[in-house]
Amino acid sequence: MLNKISVTDLDLQGKRVFCRVDFNVPLDDNLNISDDTRIVAALPTIRYIIEQGGKLILASHLGRPKGMVKPEFSLAPAASHLAKLLDRPVTMATDCVGDAVKAQIEAMNNGDIILLENVRFYPGEEKNDPAFCQQLAELADLYVNDAFGTAHRAHASTEGIAKLLSPAAAGFLMAKELKYLGQALDTPQHPFVAVIGGAKVSDKITVINTLLEKVDTLLIGGGMAYTFLKAQGFEIGTSLVENDQLELAKQLMDKAAKNQVRLLLPEDHITAQQFAKDAPPTIYSNDDFPANAMGLDIGPKTAQDYAKEMATAATVVWNGPMGVFEFPAFAKGTFAVAEALAASDAISIIGGGDSVAAVNKAGLNEKMTHISTGGGASLEFLEGKILPGIAALTDK
Ligand code: ADP
Ligand code: MG
Repeated sequence: MLNKISVTDLDLQGKRVFCRVDFNVPLDDNLNISDDTRIVAALPTIRYIIEQGGKLILASHLGRPKGMVKPEFSLAPAASHLAKLLDRPVTMATDCVGDAVKAQIEAMNNGDIILLENVRFYPGEEKNDPAFCQQLAELADLYVNDAFGTAHRAHASTEGIAKLLSPAAAGFLMAKELKYLGQALDTPQHPFVAVIGGAKVSDKITVINTLLEKVDTLLIGGGMAYTFLKAQGFEIGTSLVENDQLELAKQLMDKAAKNQVRLLLPEDHITAQQFAKDAPPTIYSNDDFPANAMGLDIGPKTAQDYAKEMATAATVVWNGPMGVFEFPAFAKGTFAVAEALAASDAISIIGGGDSVAAVNKAGLNEKMTHISTGGGASLEFLEGKILPGIAALTDK
C-alpha cells in the first residue's frame, strides 16, 4: 500500500534522526496541555528511534506565531510532558536552527532526545524557504515524518527538508494513516459507505466527487444537506444553505445516479427557531418543513435509516457531523450514527476535526478502526490529492 520507506527500514544506531511530529497541542491559560492525544500518538515512533540507538531530534510547530518568536507558543510544555510520558529526560532546545542548537545536538548520546523550539518561529518554515530547509537539514543525518496532520502542507520541516536529508521515511503514525485511508480509497471492502456531513457543501465538494467513484452508498447529513434538499425543491426554512452551490449539488446527485451510488439525504430534521443551545427542538419531515424553522440535526427516522446502513457496511468513511453536535439537543443524530458505527463490524475510518471530536465526546473512539489525527490532511487525502509531506519521502 505504502510505497514509501518506513522508519523500520532505517539503520538508526548512532545517527542523528530529525523526526517531524505533530505536537500542536491545545494549551490552557496556564500553558498546561489540555489534550495530549497528539503527543501520545507519536510515542511508538519516538520509542522505536531511541530503542534503536538513534539521537532523536524532534521538531514540530505549535499554533500560529506567524514567523516570530512568541513565548506563549513555545514547545517547552510539550518537552516536559513527553519526559513524563517516557519517564526519561527530554532536552528542550533553545531554538530550532543555528549554532547553539548544533552544540546541544553535538552533546547528545545515542538514545537521547531533544525537542527543537517551534519551527514556525521562523518565516522560512511556512514559506518552505530553501535556506531555512538547509539549516534544519544540517542538524541531522536522517529524516522521519510522523506528522500526518501537517502532511498536506509543503513546509520546510514537512517537505523541503525531506528532499535534503535522505533517506526520508514515514513514522508509525504516518504509516498507519496511509494504510487505513489508502485502503479505503484503493481496495475498500464492500459495501463501502461514506457518511459526509458538517457545515458547508463547498468544503466537501471534492471529497464527495472522489468518493462517488468509490462508494456504494453516500449518506449526507449536517448543514450541507440543506443545499442538496433545496436543489431538489424542498422547503428548508432558515437552514444553512449555499445558494451558489445548488447547481453543483444537482451535478453531484446526477453523478451518483450515473455511478449507481445510492445517495441518501435526510428525510426528517430536528429544528429550532434560531441557532441557540437552549432553543426548543421540533421535529419536521421534508414535507412539512416550515419556512421559519432551521434544521440543526437529522431527525429520528433519518438517524435510524443511517444507523441501519452502518450495520450492513463493510467499510465506512465518516467526515463531518450530522448536526450541531456542540448543542446537546442537536447531537442525537451524530451520536446515533457514531453508536451504530461503533457496534458494526465495518472497518470504520473517521476523518475531520469535528467528527473526531464528536466520536470522542460520545466516548466511542476505542471502538473505531481508525481515527485520523489529521483533519485537513485526511480530507485532502480522501479527495485523492497527493500530500506534499508524503510525496517527499523516499520511495521503497
Ligand atoms: P469536520 O471538522 O468533521 O470536517 P466540519 O468542520 O465540516 O466537520 O463541520 C462541523 C461543523 O458543522 C460543526 O461545528 C457543526 O456544528 C456544524 N453543523 C453541522 N450540522 C449543522 C447544521 N445543520 N447547521 C449548522 N451547522 C451545522
Ligand atoms: Mg471542522
